[in-house]
Amino acid sequence: MSTDVGVENPTRRDFLKIASSALGATIALEGGVWAFLNYTATLRPPPERTFPPDFIYTGPEIKYLGEEASTINTIQQDFLITIKSPSQLPSGEATLPWKNAHLITLSMALQRLPPSYLHHPRSPKEFMLIRTNQDNPYGIVELGYASRSLVVTLARNFSPHAPEPDIHNIYGDQASLLTASLAHEYTHAYDEGHLRALTDWIEQMGWTQAADNTWKNAYSQNLPPAPNPIINPVEDKAICAGLMAVRPDILSFKRKRFFLSRPEYRDWGAVKSNRL
Ligand SMILES: [Zn+2]
Repeated sequence: MSTDVGVENPTRRDFLKIASSALGATIALEGGVWAFLNYTATLRPPPERTFPPDFIYTGPEIKYLGEEASTINTIQQDFLITIKSPSQLPSGEATLPWKNAHLITLSMALQRLPPSYLHHPRSPKEFMLIRTNQDNPYGIVELGYASRSLVVTLARNFSPHAPEPDIHNIYGDQASLLTASLAHEYTHAYDEGHLRALTDWIEQMGWTQAADNTWKNAYSQNLPPAPNPIINPVEDKAICAGLMAVRPDILSFKRKRFFLSRPEYRDWGAVKSNRL
């Protein structure tokens, strides 16, 4: 990355962390909720919550002109976010610009989020759009969230209408994978600002935490299908929110009912079209 962002600045570490995790897993993670999870498990009142400063990327950027610039402007206005497009990966490798079709796919994915996810004190406010200069058959879409920043990484061969490459083929096409991934990361951001919503999930889905901080689910047969085992409630909830957006049919009754019954999801299109 550039030297524009001071090494001492914790937000630079955040970028490195989320950008590198976004390059390593199919659907990446990392919400600040982890810091508070132990308190939720004991049902003690959460401590005074302080968050690191919001991440603001100041490194080198790709400049867009023409229809891409216009689509970016529209997305920024519609969703009250700032879009930046780093021209390098943390490794120094150059990135590719997003095409207009990619930006429109992102805009449509944003429209499919629960409205309550969009404007709250922890909702993402800066998007970093990255497109790697290589094909990646396993990580065609990779997202990460931290400090109100969302990194969206597309592999060079991302193609919205092509089938998503996971062998389980859970999500359908790659645009749906992006939609589910976005709902996943926005769920982390929402939970960071609404701890009660997460503790309700923990209690209702039968999660308990052992003394060594590992989690156990009493009804593991109800966990959704996922490329990697789901070993904690934070990921369980985020994966299920992603599935609710695009594949509600494969959620367990209880998980689907959670989304259908919660006030924060009342105005979500995925809920309106899936009333029991
Ligand atoms: Zn996650």
